[in-house]
Amino acid sequence: MSIEAKLNAVLDSIDQVKSKASGAADHVQLIAVSKTFDADDIRPALEAGQRVFGENRVQESQGKWPELKTDFTDVELHLIGPLQSNKAEDAVALFDVIHTVDREKIAKALSTEMNKQGRVLKLFVQVNTGEEDQKAGIAPKAAVEFVKRCQDVHGLEIEGLMCIPPFDENPGPHFALLRKLAREAEVEKLSMGMSGDFETAIEFGATHVRVGSAIFGVRE
Ligand SMILES: *Cc1c(COP(=O)(O)O)cnc(C)c1O
Repeated sequence: MSIEAKLNAVLDSIDQVKSKASGAADHVQLIAVSKTFDADDIRPALEAGQRVFGENRVQESQGKWPELKTDFTDVELHLIGPLQSNKAEDAVALFDVIHTVDREKIAKALSTEMNKQGRVLKLFVQVNTGEEDQKAGIAPKAAVEFVKRCQDVHGLEIEGLMCIPPFDENPGPHFALLRKLAREAEVEKLSMGMSGDFETAIEFGATHVRVGSAIFGVRE
């Protein structure tokens, strides 16, 4: 199947689940995750009309997106991978949305950079719903307070929460936990669901699904 056909199949599934599930959001944004794929692989998705893309590395994105953005000026680029504070300047310059705010230092660095560059990015707080040692994200019990600190101390506008459930677990309870925390923190958006579980995520109210391999194929 072509990238365009796979993209359309994912968009169709999103619509189908959305129309059936009572807990689904009115609008579910597909983020096409193009990490590890180069500009030539991404172009067919752009030509098919997709404009919202996700990448997990700042440096890799700098190598391909400036060129693609000159041809497709209305692209919206989402950073979905961990951010180091020394990359905040580059991230704020290139990305429109960051899903991985998970600690004080990053919140502060983003606030400083957005002020300096006069750019306002949309932000998500990443929550480590499975409390996995190796995974980024703030602990669930600290999430609501952290959102408040981002807003009150750092002046950041937090759109919502993001999670990546443990690979070997049923994702449903993690999506439910993220939804519950978002309600408590009074933020609206939920970034959850990947190629293997985006349908489930939509049933739990996802507003943003991050789908890579189902569109671009298996990564090396
Ligand atoms: C790679 C990645 C995805 C997409 O994963 P697929 O299984 O290829 O759909 C989604 N979210 C994050 C944070 C990722 O790093």
